[in-house]
Amino acid sequence: MSAPSTDEAAPRPDLIPEVPIALGKLVRRVLCNNPGMMTGPGTNTYLIGQDEIAVIDPGPDDAAHLDAIAAAGSGRIKWILCTHTHGDHSPGAAGLKERTGAEVLAFADRDGLVCDRHLVDGDTVEGTEFTLRVIHTPGHAANHICFLLERDRLLFSGDHIMDGSTVVITPLDGDMGQYLASLERLQRWSPKLKAIAPAHGHVIDDPAAKLDDYLTHRLEREAQVLASLQGFGAEGADTAQLVAAIYTDVPELLWPVARFSVWAHLRKLGDEGTATAVDRDDPDTCWTAA
Ligand SMILES: [Zn+2]
Repeated sequence: MSAPSTDEAAPRPDLIPEVPIALGKLVRRVLCNNPGMMTGPGTNTYLIGQDEIAVIDPGPDDAAHLDAIAAAGSGRIKWILCTHTHGDHSPGAAGLKERTGAEVLAFADRDGLVCDRHLVDGDTVEGTEFTLRVIHTPGHAANHICFLLERDRLLFSGDHIMDGSTVVITPLDGDMGQYLASLERLQRWSPKLKAIAPAHGHVIDDPAAKLDDYLTHRLEREAQVLASLQGFGAEGADTAQLVAAIYTDVPELLWPVARFSVWAHLRKLGDEGTATAVDRDDPDTCWTAA
């Protein structure tokens, strides 16, 4: 097996629940059977290493999934790492620890996750065959971290960057300003990233293009939010009115989610002094362009 391929002609291994798929010499993926609107095909759990294994994102507390991860680990799982504490990523940590005795590591104890050790930006997890570097990437969640497999320059991006689904930024824990700053930091990363293994979807073979797309899309949306808000004049508008004005190309089913995104953009504009709110912590508050 080769390292994650940058050859576009190479087929992408299928996403089949609970079947370990080798993505490289040291990397395997086990897809959890939890597909949905917010999870795409489901949560990707990654196993790094053959001798000593680190698991990234055990997923939900799903017995079949945890059994599949433990079986693939054949007694060699030493670390359970969580990119963040959302329901499709970290609740499986306790059950996987029970099955394997491995140590649980993440940024913080939260949302029911109990860590043996906390990780901060710049920390490393060192296996006999690899180094995983911790990169704090707040935005989607304040406690979100990515893991860089340095030998392959492969980034395990959690929900910071996804393939095929949109990353939701939900204040107050989510923060659009921090999110864009975290994307820009990865864009500047040296040596350049070779590939991104997201928690949802396939491996991304062109990180630079993906990061550019993400930043461009968000900044376009931000400009739309500001222009729309300016159109409402001195009376201003709330997030529901702005979504109805902006998201005309998106099914109404997704509007409740879009409201959080608009709110996140408004808060960033507020930080930058171009929008003001009666109560910026209230998702239903009225905003006006400054
Ligand atoms: Zn997720």
